[in-house]
Amino acid sequence: MSTSSGTGSANHRNGTHRSSLRAQSSASTSAPAHKPSLKSKTVLRKSSPAALGSAPSASKSGNGGDSGVPGRVRVAVRLRPRNGEEMIADADFADCVELQPEVKRLKLRKNNWDTDTFEFDEVLTEYASQKRVYEVVAKPVVEGVLDGYNGTIMAYGQTGTGKTYTLGQLGEEDVADRGIMVRAMEDILAQVSLETDSISVSYLQLYMETVQDLLDPANDNIAIVEDPKSGDVSLPGATLVEIRDQHSFLELLQLGEAHRFAANTKLNTESSRSHAILMVHVRRSLKTESNGNSHMTKSLKPPLVRKGKLVVVDLAGSERISKSGSEGHTLEEAKSINLSLSALGKCINALAENSSHVPFRDSKLTRLLRDSFGGTARTSLVITIGPSPRHRGETTSTIMFGQRAMKVENMVKLKEEFDYKSLSKRLEVQLDSLIEENERQQKAFVDEIERITVEAHNQISEAEKRYANALEEEKQRYQNDYVESIKKLEENWSKNQKKLAAERLALGEKSGLDITSNGNRSIAPALEEVSELKRMVQKEAQLKMAAEEEVNRLKLQLTESKRVEVSGNSEIMRLHKMLETETQQKEKLEEEIATLHTQLLQLSLTADETRQNLERHGSQKTSGGALDSFMSQLKLPQLQDPGNAEKPPVAKLFEQVGLQKILSLLEADDADVRIHAVKVVANLAAEEANQQQIVEAGGLTSLLMLLRNTEDETIHRVAAGAIANLAMNETNQELIMDQGGIDLLSSTAANAQDPQTLRMVAGAIANLCGNDKLQTKLRSEGGIAALLGMVRCGHPDVLAQVARGIANFAKCESRASTQGTKRGKSLLIEDGALSWIVQNAKTETTAIKRHIELALCHLAQHEGNAKEMVKEGAIWELVRISRECSREDIRSLAHRTLTSSPTFLTELRRLRVDIR
Ligand code: ADP
Ligand code: MG
Repeated sequence: MSTSSGTGSANHRNGTHRSSLRAQSSASTSAPAHKPSLKSKTVLRKSSPAALGSAPSASKSGNGGDSGVPGRVRVAVRLRPRNGEEMIADADFADCVELQPEVKRLKLRKNNWDTDTFEFDEVLTEYASQKRVYEVVAKPVVEGVLDGYNGTIMAYGQTGTGKTYTLGQLGEEDVADRGIMVRAMEDILAQVSLETDSISVSYLQLYMETVQDLLDPANDNIAIVEDPKSGDVSLPGATLVEIRDQHSFLELLQLGEAHRFAANTKLNTESSRSHAILMVHVRRSLKTESNGNSHMTKSLKPPLVRKGKLVVVDLAGSERISKSGSEGHTLEEAKSINLSLSALGKCINALAENSSHVPFRDSKLTRLLRDSFGGTARTSLVITIGPSPRHRGETTSTIMFGQRAMKVENMVKLKEEFDYKSLSKRLEVQLDSLIEENERQQKAFVDEIERITVEAHNQISEAEKRYANALEEEKQRYQNDYVESIKKLEENWSKNQKKLAAERLALGEKSGLDITSNGNRSIAPALEEVSELKRMVQKEAQLKMAAEEEVNRLKLQLTESKRVEVSGNSEIMRLHKMLETETQQKEKLEEEIATLHTQLLQLSLTADETRQNLERHGSQKTSGGALDSFMSQLKLPQLQDPGNAEKPPVAKLFEQVGLQKILSLLEADDADVRIHAVKVVANLAAEEANQQQIVEAGGLTSLLMLLRNTEDETIHRVAAGAIANLAMNETNQELIMDQGGIDLLSSTAANAQDPQTLRMVAGAIANLCGNDKLQTKLRSEGGIAALLGMVRCGHPDVLAQVARGIANFAKCESRASTQGTKRGKSLLIEDGALSWIVQNAKTETTAIKRHIELALCHLAQHEGNAKEMVKEGAIWELVRISRECSREDIRSLAHRTLTSSPTFLTELRRLRVDIR
């Protein structure tokens, strides 16, 4: 390139240049580009070789390339050496072109005497080395790509003129043969840092308006995408391979070439018919210099990246396809094959002529190369020509294409942008760390606040303490002062007193009193004594006052506690009263219940009997018609309460029926008749006046027979009632006993269910118990046992009769013991009656209670029972009776008994019970 000696007349559009030579050229700003003239033999266009790929200084300005810098498409012409065939075939002919590289001119021989001269940016002879071609044609563009500009290197020419040789030669056999692609990548790899920058490559073929991926043959119809904003063209569907070293790039090119060959075989075409496109994307990060900006400003500035794209295009052969004619394509196919190339020619024409419309959209190639011609890329075109005069036509058309391309002006733009992604990533990290820092600071803040609060509290309490101390000291000081001044006052006072005394003395002397010095001395102690006495009196008065106060206080306390006590007592009294009332009511209710019970029993009994009578009324045609009619109205109140019994008209009955007849009915076959008869007899027996008559008539025997022979409980009940009535008479008692009455009554009791039956039986036995003569017999025949056995039913009426019997028996025994006929323990006690007595002594039922109390008193009369009574606890019941019994006579009886029995007295003394 230093060989250039160009005038630089056409360099004005390149702006500033790197080399001194370029700078020199730029200084000469002559006329704008001329229209090239094929005819002119003068220099039409001159340019320095360096200018071909000169990078605009805008690349250093870093203005993002928005405005862009004008940059013409650079065109070099390369002549292929004669090949073997041409050596022979064209041996007698001169080459069709003559090159003048030093003036960058090409002379096209029209005929032996006429030539057309053309000026190019670079003229490369058949001797030009691959290295030189790279440096002149490609290197400036590659450097631009590394600086962040898009770049295009393209070869245009007839098939076989060396396009592929120039661009794609791998140089595996001879390194000197390496073409532009290989050298470009070598340069790029040498320049970039793979740590921060990246290189990626796509390799494509365009054939019959179809873009095929040479790195992935399956990918055979790749879409071209244009960014409507930036106008950038991309092929998102193309395989993009990252390149990290030259070797992998060479492999990739080989692979692409192999695929291209395979694809073209399949399509039955030659590679000369297709366009090969290599795209190299270079992404470089700019090292942002730390310029002392603040941390924030620096971190907010996104890193800069420059993205340069190098496009290397090995165009299809520029010869007209119709001329080759060897491939058997139809005309339509031929049109399609050449469409892209002819469209490129049209676009370049339009651009060269500054036409308002450039038909970029007419073909895929022109769409792909939109940036390369009239766009923002830096573009270098190599037109390849052969020397053979036989191809003069094609060579001429190639030269004309090149000439037109030289007129195409691009606005080169720097492809620099901010990397917002990495900025945002970095900012996120920063934000996180700031958040953490903020949290820590907040915690520290809270801690600090806490610390200050605690400190403040401490200070406050400290101040309070100091204040209290000071206060105390002050108080103490004042007290001391006070004591001090009191002392002083006292001293003054005594001084004054003395003075006064002295004055008095003096006065005394004056008035002629004989007060010796001795006498003077005796007055002072007297005065002191007086004041001492005064003090004592005062003290006493104080003490008295304090004592009085104390007394008053205690008095008040006393009144208070008294008041409380009184209110408490009245409350207790009230409760006591309530309790008493409750107890009384309870007792009343219980009594009522018992009465109601009895009444209920009586009513049900009466109802039962009345019902039976009514049922039988009229149907019974026995001889006792009058009896029946009478009996139907019968009631047996006498049995319940003989005293209040409604007296039946017995006299009338006797008159009508006769006792014998009634008694005979007791043995009647009809049970009902027997029942009625026994009721009548019982009613009669309730009258004392009838009793003897009944017994004499054999009524007692008949009644006892009924107990023995019938099982009817009603008969048992009524019969027992009658027997009980009869048993009130002493003679009858003996009769009953003689006729085995005890036994009969015992078995009746044992079988009875009805409490009233038991009541009658118990009543009968109780009456027998009152007979002094029958005591032993009664007991031995099981009378007492039968009596005690009946308590099982628990009915108060029965219990009352049992208690009565026991009391009667005990009375007889006590009588016997008083008369001295009784020795040893009571038969009652022997039969176990005592424990029942003690158990029931506290009963609330008055009827039972009276009998039990009497029984206890009678038993206690006999000293022989005393031990047993102590043992069974009966003594306590006696004590209770002697104190609480409402009947005065029983109370005094119990008392007498207790006090007259040595055993009881001993026991009571032992237990320190005072019965007085
Ligand atoms: P095209 O790609 O334009 O059809 P090629 O690059 O295939 O042409 O070249 C055709 C032949 O010419 C190849 O054998 C190539 O090696 C040879 N050739 C092309 N240019 C040169 C050159 N400058 N020096 C030596 N041989 C060349
Ligand atoms: Mg080729």
